[in-house]
Amino acid sequence: MKIAFFDAKPYDKPSFDKYSAECGLDIKYFETKLNEDTVELAAGYDAVCVFVNDTVNAPVIDRLQELGIRIVALRCAGFNNVDMKYAFGRVHVLRVPAYSPYAVAEHTVAMLLTSIRRIHKAYIRTRDFNFSLAGMTGFDLHGKTVGVIGTGRIGRVFIDICRGFGMRVLAYDKYQAAGLDNGDTVKYVSLDELFRGSDIISLHCPLTEETYHVIDERAIDACRRGVVILNTSRGALVDAEALLAGIKSRKVGAACLDVYEEEADFFFEDFSGHIIEDDTLARLISMPNVIVTSHQAFLTEDALSNIAQTTVENIRSLVQNGQCENEVCYRGGQAEDCKSGKCF
Ligand code: NAD
Repeated sequence: MKIAFFDAKPYDKPSFDKYSAECGLDIKYFETKLNEDTVELAAGYDAVCVFVNDTVNAPVIDRLQELGIRIVALRCAGFNNVDMKYAFGRVHVLRVPAYSPYAVAEHTVAMLLTSIRRIHKAYIRTRDFNFSLAGMTGFDLHGKTVGVIGTGRIGRVFIDICRGFGMRVLAYDKYQAAGLDNGDTVKYVSLDELFRGSDIISLHCPLTEETYHVIDERAIDACRRGVVILNTSRGALVDAEALLAGIKSRKVGAACLDVYEEEADFFFEDFSGHIIEDDTLARLISMPNVIVTSHQAFLTEDALSNIAQTTVENIRSLVQNGQCENEVCYRGGQAEDCKSGKCF
């Protein structure tokens, strides 16, 4: 079985080589992303393996079908880059629902601590033998309130860590997790209450039509002055223009972004010798209280190993058994994990 692997990076190969060899899968790594222009590269392969910034829209799906390819194996959890409605009945879409919620939750906390304790500033200052503390005053996390939007796997690990710091948690989720609200340190509230009551807000929900720009101008207006916004989920959860305006007006105290709405044009590539065309991204990065990492929250050895193992197992399971427990399908008007394990 031959797999065309798009948007391949050097760190993908060791774990995928290991697990594919065990399963007898033959992987060809392409550095380019999958999109309408590059889909021809998949000719002669049995499946494509894609990541967060590959494009699996209707024209790509049509061409994959014409090439006889019926498997799109996502090596990530989110599937907002796939036209799931169009894919249903045409290609099997497999994903890795969980590979390490700890990796993403811990990166979120790393960004938060870096930001509020000015570690990014201190690192640069001390390398220049500048030992001044001017402008380095931070604040304690203990006793602060964190608003967590999305209390799934990652959100719950993040909440556990925050509770370790002695923080209060205001949570919001479309589907509340049983047993999480203890009526005291963790409470489910409405989105509006979360905005009004949180010192820090962290996003851990998927990107859907409902959650698109959940942090917009109105939300920022409702927030406390000095709110810290953390986004390690998906870029378009935050209206970047509204965030920038909030930073400029000093309403937003700090932002930590591992994802960005237009990241597909930049993230994972080296633009250090180029002039960045995206003024909003450039302006955000120029701010002393904004930290940007380029979608690296997942990037731990543990997560990479789990991603490769599950992706390879997903393909093997679908090919050998005709079904896969990690298939996503579009039934009843929305994309969700295929409950029967047999999508079509
Ligand atoms: P999950 O499915 O376990 O949890 C998502 C939660 O969001 C669920 O509890 C769900 O009920 C909730 N939700 C769904 N719709 C909602 C809505 N309209 N409003 C509020 N909550 C809603 O997923 P997870 O494993 O915790 O991952 C969360 C997100 O993290 C993923 O969707 C993905 O976008 C992102 N992610 C980012 C990285 C990274 O490297 N930065 C890595 C993995 C995942």
